Amino acid sequence: MSDLRALYQEVILDHSKRPRNFRALQDSNRHAEGYNPLCGDRITLYVKLDEDRIADIGFQGSGCAISTASASLLTETLKGKTTTEAEELFGKFHDLVTGKANGDASLGKLAVFSGVSEFPVRVKCATLAWHTLKSALEGGEKPVTTE
Ligand code: ZN
Repeated sequence: MSDLRALYQEVILDHSKRPRNFRALQDSNRHAEGYNPLCGDRITLYVKLDEDRIADIGFQGSGCAISTASASLLTETLKGKTTTEAEELFGKFHDLVTGKANGDASLGKLAVFSGVSEFPVRVKCATLAWHTLKSALEGGEKPVTTE
């Protein structure tokens, strides 16, 4: 394993053990639930939207290390970003974990998930939080499933 991969692994483990923004927001104005039946990952995402800016974001749920770390890094990355920026990042993140692109600097720490492309079954774990975010921003009250 290269040094970079070891570092990526470490970041994912850290975020899965100590997820950031792991809380229900009291003043959220958007939320959505997501479920990945393939792995059993569940997430509820809370967003406080200030016009088109994500003023605050948090999540709760339970799942594997990849899904928890992905939700944690999503919240850390998107706080303060606009919904348009969030959509662009989702596109790049999706291309990264499915191996369609290598990603670029705008992904920041999200690059730690680049290894997921070698494990197709894990793609749904890595993207669950993002699909759930999309649903929350669209105001959908219907739970999201990755199936
Ligand atoms: Zn999972």
